[in-house]
Amino acid sequence: AFELKGKKVFVAGHRGMVGSALVRRLAREDVELVTADRCEVDLCNQAAVFDWFAKTRPQVVFLAAAKVGGIVANNTLRAEFIYENIAIAANVIHAAHMNGIEKLMFLGSSCIYPKLAPQPLREDSILTGPLEPTNEPYAIAKLAGIKMVEAYRRQYNSDFISVMPTNLYGPGDNYHPELSHVVAALIRRFHEAKLAHAECVAVWGTGKPRREFLHVDDMADACVHLIRVYSGSNLINIGSGEDITIAEFARVVAAVVGYQGEIRFDTSRPDGTPRKLLDISRLAELGWRAKTPLEHGLRQVYQEYSLTYSTSL
Ligand code: GDP
Repeated sequence: AFELKGKKVFVAGHRGMVGSALVRRLAREDVELVTADRCEVDLCNQAAVFDWFAKTRPQVVFLAAAKVGGIVANNTLRAEFIYENIAIAANVIHAAHMNGIEKLMFLGSSCIYPKLAPQPLREDSILTGPLEPTNEPYAIAKLAGIKMVEAYRRQYNSDFISVMPTNLYGPGDNYHPELSHVVAALIRRFHEAKLAHAECVAVWGTGKPRREFLHVDDMADACVHLIRVYSGSNLINIGSGEDITIAEFARVVAAVVGYQGEIRFDTSRPDGTPRKLLDISRLAELGWRAKTPLEHGLRQVYQEYSLTYSTSL
């Protein structure tokens, strides 16, 4: 197993939902944690990244920095999503190579799998068919990162690995009404509807798509586990192994928030990919399982959200 103890560990993207969860998780390990603020190093700026690596010389890198967003953000900010995510992956992975980093973990996404690949999504279905068009620019950038990791491993024997998380939620999520992912979007919409005593809340799409959700603290725990136990060219999916329809999910969020009105499906909004459930057999074989049940995780997130919501009013 790879020894983390005593290592200088760089979490790229420490202000994001995943990066900040990694920082919390790594605080429980005996490591020297380093992070880089955006004003100090813009990860899209090649020269800045190369300088920072040469100066800081981390030994381990978790590449959790990315431009992310929900279905609308992905579909409308298409240029930013492809450019920034390719630039971040290219700069950080190459800098890791040039500075002899001992181990790097690249965080991909389940949206790299073909839209109509068999479910649950196995890691080897990568590049077997067309992508979901709404997030193709993001997916192509993540595929480029995966292929870089693979190429540096093959050519230079670098210990770089890639993991593919499912849809994540947790503290530090983005609650923008249009640009967020479904979990944050519905927590906010139901909460505001409850406060306003609204009779009806709109949920996008038909309610029929199925999604798998994982608490970001589980994700961070899986990453720390895998950086120790896994070394190889296979992708590793990280998920809970269970999915639910958006309609059922909306009812769970409504119950957690305490919204008792009606739920209406707005079919003028996109559904995205029909189903996105990861096959987690590799992850299970490597000895890791998700711990947070969805409803429990949502209760925790909603409690935090409602506290900050009322103080920001
Ligand atoms: P995706 O998994 O990449 O499609 O990301 P999202 O989290 O944005 O969307 C997941 C599913 O939830 C899609 O089927 C959306 O149509 C649906 N959904 C329902 N209501 C909302 C909402 O208010 N915001 C978002 N982002 N998605 C929603």
